Amino acid sequence: MAKLIKKARKIPLSFAKLKGRIRKTLRDYSGVLDECALTNTRRLFYLSIIAIPLRVLNILLFTTKSYDTELLKTWSNGIIASHLALLIIMAAFFLITRKLKSKADANKTMYVLQYLVVLIIMASGVAIVTIDQLVATNITPFLLTCIVSGLVFLIRPLISFIIYLVSYLAYYNLLALTTSSQEILLSNRVNGITAVGIGFFLSVILWHYNYTNIVQKRRINLQQKQLEQMAYYDSLTDLPNRRLLEKLIKQESDLMQRHGHDTVIIILDIDNFKEINDTYGHPVGDSLLRQLADFLKSEVRQSDTVFRFGGEEFIILMPKTSPEEGYAFAERLRKLILDSKFAVGPVELQITSSFGVSSMRGISGNTLEDYYLAADKALYIAKQHGKNRVEAACVAEK
Ligand code: GH3
Ligand code: MG
Ligand code: MG
Repeated sequence: MAKLIKKARKIPLSFAKLKGRIRKTLRDYSGVLDECALTNTRRLFYLSIIAIPLRVLNILLFTTKSYDTELLKTWSNGIIASHLALLIIMAAFFLITRKLKSKADANKTMYVLQYLVVLIIMASGVAIVTIDQLVATNITPFLLTCIVSGLVFLIRPLISFIIYLVSYLAYYNLLALTTSSQEILLSNRVNGITAVGIGFFLSVILWHYNYTNIVQKRRINLQQKQLEQMAYYDSLTDLPNRRLLEKLIKQESDLMQRHGHDTVIIILDIDNFKEINDTYGHPVGDSLLRQLADFLKSEVRQSDTVFRFGGEEFIILMPKTSPEEGYAFAERLRKLILDSKFAVGPVELQITSSFGVSSMRGISGNTLEDYYLAADKALYIAKQHGKNRVEAACVAEK
């Protein structure tokens, strides 16, 4: 009984797991379908480039020959008409995919196009073999279209199965229209099964190979993004961290020198933060840091970036900003923080903060340390002068 209860308890858990797995698989799957539609669109473009001259060549070969019997004339005209129809369709595909192929995301047209093209290729194989049966017994065109469809286009197995099945049914019935010998008809119908079998087999194998490849590629990309997030972003506040600041400072330093604009660094340090931790506990301190991070993010301009520099210190990087504008902004922030109440559960916190403002212009060197020092000195003065204030660095004094 105890075992049974244990088992029963496990059911919702495994159910949730199963649901999670299904959701993940579906997400993976829709991503794969998108990538396949994109690949198929590109392949269709290149296939049309190859197919157009081949169709023209076929038409030329047939039109240069004249036949005396009605049967041969019907056969030749039928083949010419099929190639001509295919030529027009391929030219249309070429024009459609020329623009589509450079798109980054899959769209509905691509989805429809990929199924349509496979159907049309298969239909052309059926049509040409049916016409060919007037004078020949081989089914090479049908075999070739089965192989080309399977090799070139990435179609998911269910749809592929339907397309091959429909094509075979058409092939099976249409052959009877032009084949007089029952033995040849039977033989070609049987050979047709082999042809669709090979096509479908190729299609499934390539689909599976691509599916695993794409899924793996997407997982690696995701992991890379997660690693980047871990390396460059602070896990508590989600703000970019010191490592990213080091990178961006170098870039900004180059831009500043190239374009000659001013860039301002503001350091913000919460006053007496240790007391908050000591009085209300670390989790309250954490929550305050998160709220302040969101608050700062909402206050800065789009071109500015807020970093968590460490502990209860934040840095705001303000490109194309004069020291006066930077100072005024820090002063505005100081007042806003002073007037705000940060609610953490039942606790309502009122805090003050000190600021050090410095322009990056006129500082030699291009590392974070070079630029940070002046602003940090200003912050130190703000703390020395009683906190809850903004001090600007005089770069010349550095
Ligand atoms: P001052 O006004 O001079 O800046 O004093 P302060 O108390 O704000 O500064 P101090 O450097 O003395 O203390 C900073 C505190 O911040 C100490 C440390 O425990 C706390 N702290 C650092 N990182 C975190 C964090 O991620 N979460 C929490 N809750 N506290 C943190
Ligand atoms: Mg502090
Ligand atoms: Mg500090």
